[in-house]
Amino acid sequence: CGICGVAGHKPAVPIIFDALKRLEYRGYDSAGIATIGPKGQIERVRAAGKLDHLKAALAETPIQGTTGIGHTRWATHGEPTANNAHPHKVGDVAVVHNGIIENYAELKAELEAKGAVFQSQTDSEVVAHLADGFLKQGATPEEAARQTFARLEGAYAIAMIFEGHDGLLIGARHGAPLAIGYGEGEMFLGSDSLALAPLTNRLCYLDDGDWCVLTPQSAVIYNRAGQVVERPIKTQPAGQ
Ligand code: GLU
Repeated sequence: CGICGVAGHKPAVPIIFDALKRLEYRGYDSAGIATIGPKGQIERVRAAGKLDHLKAALAETPIQGTTGIGHTRWATHGEPTANNAHPHKVGDVAVVHNGIIENYAELKAELEAKGAVFQSQTDSEVVAHLADGFLKQGATPEEAARQTFARLEGAYAIAMIFEGHDGLLIGARHGAPLAIGYGEGEMFLGSDSLALAPLTNRLCYLDDGDWCVLTPQSAVIYNRAGQVVERPIKTQPAGQ
């Protein structure tokens, strides 16, 4: 339902948590955050129910890092439990997803036939399995993301981080909004402008079919055909 991501230089958890707070108005049933920890490993905390529950879970299991993703979920496939909450982590990939992967059942059957073991009842988990599968075949995170997005049908906004790749944040938009926020030495992803509003006033909405590769210093946007494209960066007036 709501997405925030950051590749930056400040602790990611408070940035993401505050953004999720601003996304609360959309409604949600569970929430979670994943970061790239100090040793390059993916760290993750999720909770069912209100963001207060996530806050308590984060107090119990603090996670660190300056790159991370967060999500408020409005369940469409699978009960609103902590285990079905996003981010979903498979191998070296953590994923948050808004929307519905319409072909998840056939993708899941295909992945299970190859030995994948699913940990949740969501449609979204196929995204993490696909990306991790491509990584295991030797793809770079960028290649794995591109190949993953090419397999997905339905409506989605997605943000992903990769174990061992601190400072890398990949996003995609297809039928559900996603914007890049340009900061100073930090880049953000948000599912709406409210998520990003206090973080930066320079926003760029991805077009349908676009995906993007962000680092603290750079943002490269690709279209469906894999060509690098420029999208307008809009500077919001102060206070909006
Ligand atoms: N379809 C996904 C799920 O049920 C994402 C729902 C959402 O947009 O929050 O987990």
